[in-house]
Amino acid sequence: MITGKTQILGVIGDPVTHSLSPVMHNAALAELGADFVYVAFPIATAQLETAVAGLAAIGVSGFNVTIPHKQAIMPLLSKISAEAQAVGAVNTVWRTERGWAGTNTDVLGFVAPLQALRDWSQAQAVILGNGGAARAVVAGCAQLGLKGVSVVGRNPDRLQAFQLSWQGSPFQPPSVHPWEALPDLLPQADLVVNTTPIGMHPQVGATPLDEALLAGAKADAIAYDLIYTPSPTQFLSLASQHGLATIDGLEMLVQQGAAALKIWLQSSVPVDTMRQALKAHLGH
Ligand code: NAP
Repeated sequence: MITGKTQILGVIGDPVTHSLSPVMHNAALAELGADFVYVAFPIATAQLETAVAGLAAIGVSGFNVTIPHKQAIMPLLSKISAEAQAVGAVNTVWRTERGWAGTNTDVLGFVAPLQALRDWSQAQAVILGNGGAARAVVAGCAQLGLKGVSVVGRNPDRLQAFQLSWQGSPFQPPSVHPWEALPDLLPQADLVVNTTPIGMHPQVGATPLDEALLAGAKADAIAYDLIYTPSPTQFLSLASQHGLATIDGLEMLVQQGAAALKIWLQSSVPVDTMRQALKAHLGH
């Protein structure tokens, strides 16, 4: 029940009405009996600074940040974690005595389904795409201790900028390659991650890697798609047909959310309740 004492959490973005975060966070808050509510705040870019000051003024406890504010929020925070600084994006903000603090839980979310699977120290990853999510994936691969990370993109200027952006960060810059390099890269890869939107609903028949390319992949490689609708994507279906293990984007979504909720509540959180709430909502 929402009372006069109920505390507010939320997500800011534009658009944000499609966000799945309210579903999973409110399920967890109900399970915990915590007197919080989690809501979506649509905030236009021109209003970001005013809105963030307003969220502080009305006593919001913390919030997630989604497209297009993940970078723009950074100058408005009084403290940013080293991880978020390296990634160059913040997705979780909480209140401190000295103002808002921010971090990036997408890195932890990406790593969570991988870390127990194997020793990654000799492994090679191929990452498809060089956008925002690819940044969290590169940082995650560095945290796992992978030996090599190759980022594949379609635009040479953006690829070059992506590589340069890692200079001076705690992480080893990835090598960058055009899409045409995939026949040479895939046979070496232990982990193949799709960070492009290719195959996302409603383009459910599209795949970033076709059968011919997947036929060249290592038999014991893991195919990881950050997309969570549909489940599985065409990419993961084809990878599975070629005998590869597969991971879809739902677990990353759940784990980045769980990590954020832990920060706000300073307690353990019911991860399975969050996972089940999302699956029920998505009809998985
Ligand atoms: P983004 O910043 O727009 O980056 C998308 C990347 O994909 C860019 O590098 C873009 O290339 C590339 N790309 C797009 N269409 C392509 C095409 N037809 N061929 C080749 N490359 C293409 O988006 P994002 O925020 O990184 O998100 C990417 C995906 O990850 C989305 O599907 C999103 O839903 C998913 N995601 C999932 C989670 C999760 O928790 N599971 C979290 C974050 C994101 P250019 O640079 O050349 O434009």
